[in-house]
Amino acid sequence: MSKGTRNESSKMSAMGRREFLGGALVGAVAVGQVGNLSHAAVGQVVNLSDSAAGQVTNLSYMEKLETPIVARHQVVVAGGGPSGVIAALAAARTGADTLLIERYPFLGGNGTAGLMTCYNGFRNQRPPEALQTVKGIAAEYIAELVRLGGIADEDSYPHENHDVTKGDLPYCIGFDPEAAKIAALNLLKKEGVKLRLHSWVVAPMLDGSRVTGVICESKSGRQAIAGDIVVDATGDGDVAAWAGAPFMKPADPSEKRDRMGASLMYRIGGVPPSLKNFGGIRIADRVVKWGPGGGGDCLDVENLTRLEVESRLKLWDDVQAMRKKPGQESIYLMQTATCVGVRETRRILGEYVVTEQDAIKGTHFPDVIAISSNPMPGYHGKRFFFEHEGFDIPYRSLVPLKVEGLVLTGRCISCEQGPFQSARSMAPAMAIGHASGTAAALAALSRIAPRKLDIKALQKTLLAQNAELRMKA
Ligand SMILES: Cc1cc2nc3c(=O)[nH]c(=O)nc-3n(C[C@H](O)[C@H](O)[C@H](O)COP(=O)(O)OP(=O)(O)OC[C@H]3O[C@@H](n4cnc5c(N)ncnc54)[C@H](O)[C@@H]3O)c2cc1C
Repeated sequence: MSKGTRNESSKMSAMGRREFLGGALVGAVAVGQVGNLSHAAVGQVVNLSDSAAGQVTNLSYMEKLETPIVARHQVVVAGGGPSGVIAALAAARTGADTLLIERYPFLGGNGTAGLMTCYNGFRNQRPPEALQTVKGIAAEYIAELVRLGGIADEDSYPHENHDVTKGDLPYCIGFDPEAAKIAALNLLKKEGVKLRLHSWVVAPMLDGSRVTGVICESKSGRQAIAGDIVVDATGDGDVAAWAGAPFMKPADPSEKRDRMGASLMYRIGGVPPSLKNFGGIRIADRVVKWGPGGGGDCLDVENLTRLEVESRLKLWDDVQAMRKKPGQESIYLMQTATCVGVRETRRILGEYVVTEQDAIKGTHFPDVIAISSNPMPGYHGKRFFFEHEGFDIPYRSLVPLKVEGLVLTGRCISCEQGPFQSARSMAPAMAIGHASGTAAALAALSRIAPRKLDIKALQKTLLAQNAELRMKA
């Protein structure tokens, strides 16, 4: 994604709405069909002769854009990570024609691209942990992983007293990332979700403050896809932020509570069975481990580039050093994550901001749509275990301020850093996805703004789909 593109999208939202054809004309395209409409912006060329080659300039280049609107769907989910996949499944199951868009050629987000192969947070890690707080479509997804033989032999946490094969899910489930990609594809196909891979969402389509779709870039060029309701499942809150929703920045790096850093996960092969206590997530002789990383702003492409280069170079040396240890000569670097795993970027401000005290006290909300029981792993430098069975995620934390037509999901929802540390884990992220996809579908089908959605109807649908909300159907 070029700097020019981003400049263009922000300029467009600031001054180009006159040329925006979205709101009125998109209605002419039938849901699920291809349109021949276009989304035009004014072009202007900037003279570059003043800037030296290889140097940073403050100039901008305004592109002349005419973007075809190639499709329209009732629900468009931007981002195919754990939360986006479950959101798309939920939206389709609730009856909406649904499209899932993903920048990579496969699904699974940080669980597959980031090689973070253990789903944490199906229940509290320590007593009290009788309640399995994540069920519903997330549990169906785990059942598909089990069916595919995609559960790890060993992971970092004990599983005693729980039988994954019977749907009794422990705190953490280690998995095979290739099976996870297939499990997602199988369920999405069965549920009738349409897919668009290899597609970066680069801007929202806007009609005033209402998101009416997304603009994607891919090998097919720049294309607009209209959506009655869009779910922002990008992890980074890209759609919400670019549409003008206010957001919280990660904690200032100078504070004690630094943002959670990024890490490059990796998988080694050839691990001899005799090598015990090797750590990581193990399937036969293959073990996924946490690798080097760093901090900084993971929305800054130069920082991301630095992290990739430094982490990959260091990881290679680390594995060569491992191979020199007696008994470890057979191990080799089998795979690195597609990209460095980013833990924390934007948290979008919503109708309610879940507070640190909500997480610590285990607050219950009348508009509960999911529960997060995962500990806060970096709370003032320590893993903070809850003394309750989980805090509620209220629907209001999925509804961004100032922007209509958009529902948040996954790690960008509206919360302070403490609850973020908990709810960003993949099991709660999936439970939140179940709710956001269902909410988006109900809003699209009843032509109601997400902000005005009937919470009781949402909860009733979630309970009918076996979500855990600590209330009766
Ligand atoms: C190093 C590391 C270790 C972690 N350890 C654990 C752990 O042990 N257990 C656990 O449960 N969680 C862990 N987490 C947290 C967890 O992986 C994430 O918080 C979680 O994946 C968030 O889910 P998500 O669906 O919101 O976002 P993501 O998993 O980030 O998925 C977002 C998806 O959107 C796509 N996307 C992003 N932007 C765009 C765009 N503009 N256009 C199109 N597609 C886009 C991405 O490619 C991705 O597929 C860890 C995270 C990291 C980084």
